[in-house]
Amino acid sequence: MEQTNKVILLKLGEVVLKGLNRKNFEKMLIDDVKRRLKKCGNYSVLSSQSTMYVSPLDSDSKDAIDDAAKECAKVFGVASLCVAAEIEKDLDKILAFIGNYVRSVRKDEKTFKVVGKRSDKTFPLTSPELSALCGAKILSANHDMKVDVSNPDMTVYVEVRDYAVYIHASKIHGAGGMPAGSAGKAVLLLSGGIDSPAAGYVCAKRGVMIEALHFDSFPYTSERARMKVIELAEKMCDYCGNISLNIISLTEIQESIKKVCKEDYFTVILRRFMMRLAEMAAKNSGAKAIITGESLGQVASQTMSALAVTNNAVSDIPVFRPFIAMDKEEIVNIARKIGTFDISIQPYEDCCTVFTPKHPATSPILEKVLFEEQKLDVKGLTERAFATMEKINLNPGN
Ligand code: ATP
Ligand code: MG
Repeated sequence: MEQTNKVILLKLGEVVLKGLNRKNFEKMLIDDVKRRLKKCGNYSVLSSQSTMYVSPLDSDSKDAIDDAAKECAKVFGVASLCVAAEIEKDLDKILAFIGNYVRSVRKDEKTFKVVGKRSDKTFPLTSPELSALCGAKILSANHDMKVDVSNPDMTVYVEVRDYAVYIHASKIHGAGGMPAGSAGKAVLLLSGGIDSPAAGYVCAKRGVMIEALHFDSFPYTSERARMKVIELAEKMCDYCGNISLNIISLTEIQESIKKVCKEDYFTVILRRFMMRLAEMAAKNSGAKAIITGESLGQVASQTMSALAVTNNAVSDIPVFRPFIAMDKEEIVNIARKIGTFDISIQPYEDCCTVFTPKHPATSPILEKVLFEEQKLDVKGLTERAFATMEKINLNPGN
């Protein structure tokens, strides 16, 4: 058994439906898989028949194949995957192998079924014939097991493909979605909170390349709060690939609003500045949308009226709010899954909590907001804030 080749089979998701773009998308996927596998050893990656084959090229890489599979499970565009044994396309070899194979991989499963799949039609047996013969061999090598075709504890797949037969017994869920970068770039407004890293993740899953933008308000916000955001963005790289993290200081803007504008409009005016700066950052980096972690009714600035007033500051770029209709608990589940939750709950201040009004307007009226804003040099403040932008390039594994 030790002599058998092991291969990771990646089953592609929606990519296979994408017609003319399919080749490009497959290439992006292969690049992403190769990049992630670097830390697990040497592997070849080939694509054929809606499946990607990841094969170890030396014995250390063969030993690390389960870790390699874990990395592959993070790749967007992969629907499911498995570690399969690769056998020559020879019925005797398949039958000699399969009984012991099941004995070696099973835990306490008592029932099984075999799913034979003959995609190579030159193979002499039909899929049901192949399944029946393999089933008999598994039974004779595992006397305590029974066949159950409707609700088996274990499903053994025997896939006869172009160059070999692949046998596997457990499917791993892939990350789903579309290949990294296939949808273009967007600016993610990244705070230190729970929502925005998770919002970035769900968009990255649909193929968005993330250009993160964080606002700080030094000295009202600390160096430690800034480090927390860097840590969050680094964590996101694990799934999203390379991320550029831009940091802009809002100190002058916040002090100016606080000085001259009506207190209850402070937050909504600040959010309008954030949007203007996000749009400038998007133009600067070639991004085509802005992403936020806003959720309807979560705080005063996330009512429909407040969102309308905020959106009014953006001229011609869509704002994606993937969590607009999601509960906090659902968002928390995503944040936990991607490992950002524990970082987000560290108690450091955010610029949004600096000078927060006691009674923020929940139904702000645009005309009144514009009237308050006229007291400010919006253009000068925006340009000076944009000039403070620093860029940090983050790569997975750094
Ligand atoms: P929480 O999980 O505490 O709600 P949050 O990040 O969602 O954290 P909100 O006050 O709800 O914080 O802000 C709404 C959205 O505005 C965020 O999801 C984020 O996209 C953006 N945002 C808030 N503060 C900042 C900031 N300091 N820098 C960049 N974007 C921010
Ligand atoms: Mg929030």
